[in-house]
Amino acid sequence: MTIDTQCLIIGAGIAGLVAAQRLQSAGLTVTVVDKGRGVGGRMATRRLTSPDGAARIDHGAQYFTNYDPQFTPMLAEWLAVGIVRKWSNGFHASDGTPHFNQTPRYVGTDGMTTIPKYLARNLDVYTGVTITTLRWEGAFAAAAKDGRLFSAESLILTPPVPQSLALIDSGNVVLPRDLRHQLAQIEYDPCFAVLATLGSPSRLPPPGGVWPVHPEPISWIADNQQKGVSDQPAVTIHAGPQFSRDHFDDDPDAVANRLIAAADALVGADVLTYQVQRWRYSIPVQMFPARFAAIDQPGKLLFAGDAFAGPRVEGAAMSGLAAADALLAA
Ligand SMILES: Cc1cc2nc3c(=O)[nH]c(=O)nc-3n(C[C@H](O)[C@H](O)[C@H](O)COP(=O)(O)OP(=O)(O)OC[C@H]3O[C@@H](n4cnc5c(N)ncnc54)[C@H](O)[C@@H]3O)c2cc1C
Repeated sequence: MTIDTQCLIIGAGIAGLVAAQRLQSAGLTVTVVDKGRGVGGRMATRRLTSPDGAARIDHGAQYFTNYDPQFTPMLAEWLAVGIVRKWSNGFHASDGTPHFNQTPRYVGTDGMTTIPKYLARNLDVYTGVTITTLRWEGAFAAAAKDGRLFSAESLILTPPVPQSLALIDSGNVVLPRDLRHQLAQIEYDPCFAVLATLGSPSRLPPPGGVWPVHPEPISWIADNQQKGVSDQPAVTIHAGPQFSRDHFDDDPDAVANRLIAAADALVGADVLTYQVQRWRYSIPVQMFPARFAAIDQPGKLLFAGDAFAGPRVEGAAMSGLAAADALLAA
């Protein structure tokens, strides 16, 4: 089965969805595909059952900020329709030092996935579809693992850049050498995340996030109940980049138990159940020097995502927007 579209976007994270919204509202036919079970990519919320009920836990991005005035109207809309609210103006360090400032930290009302779900509501999105091969056959032809084929005049790639480059290498599309070299320099920190339900509320100080003074082995702990995402007590524990890199391929349960033990003094409650999420690409540490990358031959192909316009949710959204605007201008 071949699905024809004007623009195919690979990746239904925030970059892909913002780009799709912009292109669709300008009148283009847009199709978005994602290998995940749902939309959102690294804006991810999971339900975790415990003997006391079900908890909701944000395990990728924890909150987002707004520094770019171009992002402000988008945020204003999300606040107005009630899918986003302010969480806090900062958090404490593990030694109790307050780190609060003028910058609000925002969250999705039912967890971070609330935002991508809202953006995807009126888009043509295929989830659970992994693109494995990309070719140029007079149009871009993207073949999925399940046999589906997507054919498009233009293409926006928003996976983490090493994954986008693997797709490029899968077929006959060739990038100019300099661009290929620049994209190959982009690197991400991994992040080993533990999601845990608790037998009683955590002892994390309000508003429910803690930055350990030493960011290894743990760089962040969040209380999803205080955050307003979960009815049940539940925490997210993020390991630091060095620890995550050193233990990425170790037995996940052994690593999770080490992190739970290391967090115990701050969390101060019994863990009932836990799950592990390993993010191979969590936050880019080596960025591309422009808001997107693009080639015109053999067809319009753009790269977007958080490695382009800022290594966070806001940057990913701005990159998606910039890529869409560039395509429309062309
Ligand atoms: C642990 C962690 C903590 C973070 N904390 C914060 C934070 O507190 N604040 C903040 O602002 N940011 C944070 N971030 C970063 C933030 O989540 C990202 O910058 C942002 O979500 C990236 O969006 P994106 O659309 O560029 O990429 P992604 O969300 O990664 O979207 C890319 C999509 O492409 C899909 N994909 C990849 N390959 C294929 C394929 N072959 N076929 C089909 N689909 C494919 C993936 O499934 C994915 O959904 C965090 C990230 C992580 C992992």
